Amino acid sequence: MSEIVDQPMSDRWRNIVRLVKDEYLSSAQHYPWIVGFSGGKDSSLVAHAVFEALQAIPPSARTRPVHIVSNDTLVESPFVMAHLNKVTVQIEQAANDMGLPIVVRRTRPDLDKTFWVLLIGKGYPSPNSQMRWCTDRLKIQPTSTYIRDNISNHGAAIVVLGVRRTESIRRMMTVDKYENMRGSNLNEHNSISGAFIFRPIVDLSTDDVWEILGSFPTPWGGTHKDLFQLYRDAEGGECPVVLSKDEAPGCGTKSSRFGCWTCTVVEKDKSLQGYIDAGHDGYQPLLDFRDNLVAYRKNQSMRSAIRRNGRLTFDATGKHIPGPFTIQARKEILAELLRVQEEFGSPLISEEEINLIHKIWATELQQEEAIVNA
Ligand code: SF4
Repeated sequence: MSEIVDQPMSDRWRNIVRLVKDEYLSSAQHYPWIVGFSGGKDSSLVAHAVFEALQAIPPSARTRPVHIVSNDTLVESPFVMAHLNKVTVQIEQAANDMGLPIVVRRTRPDLDKTFWVLLIGKGYPSPNSQMRWCTDRLKIQPTSTYIRDNISNHGAAIVVLGVRRTESIRRMMTVDKYENMRGSNLNEHNSISGAFIFRPIVDLSTDDVWEILGSFPTPWGGTHKDLFQLYRDAEGGECPVVLSKDEAPGCGTKSSRFGCWTCTVVEKDKSLQGYIDAGHDGYQPLLDFRDNLVAYRKNQSMRSAIRRNGRLTFDATGKHIPGPFTIQARKEILAELLRVQEEFGSPLISEEEINLIHKIWATELQQEEAIVNA
């Protein structure tokens, strides 16, 4: 390990690209590769390594498909989405022009599991650390479904991730938990059977990642300059690609500042605040709305006394635990969101979500009426 660290950065980078190339050409299996791409620094570096490795492989040997997959929670920070959209278009275009076997894909939560449908439609209280109902539905399920579909079609899939040992203590523990398959660079995933994890930059430090990103132009054209600017403006840590709950250390914690713009699990949205402080004033209504979501959760008059199961609930100390947002509160939150959307000038909620929200309200009101009339 220390020998590796002592190498000049250009050699270490060359070795990483070689490692990726050798793994791609591995004759042991030909399962598709799924590169988890969040648009943050670590996954950008992994995509960079994979792209460069593919360029170094003769066309006749590029037989394994590579999927570059990003997840859109539908409440991603708009400035992160703008960056992600721009880069994925560049990657797709360059890969097509060069004849590389890369497909670029986007996963999303199911319509009935989006943040707005659950919060405004069903009245789920704004998430907090005790009731973080969002990560699984918005992030884990869409990505896992994509991986499982590929496993069904091909027997297995290799998931290429930008996880690094030094990212956080929790991440390090997760990395070390995986069993290394004997004589292989792959680790079996602990919850998705048939998925194998390949982590080509696992031993790089954060400084290494930035140094490499700053030293080499992107193989799909241009530089990583926009990425540097994004982090500078947003004082950001990234919300990495998330495949399971114990792999979601950054999601909704202090170390994650590129999460959903609606995230009420964090105390303060530092990335959004940083972005506003850097002169992007148009984001202020979003930040105010997020802060209001935190307050609504605590406002007892906006919550039903009973839970969705129809019961009054108390915690161990006898304290009453309120239920979902009342329908009246949900209506007010939707009206406010639409006002913020108007002010912001870009879509924050889709027509499909609004239609489903109205259907859910109508069904609930009918059920309440039926109970009253019974
Ligand atoms: S960033 Fe926050 S709101 Fe989004 S999934 Fe993670 S914890 Fe939930």
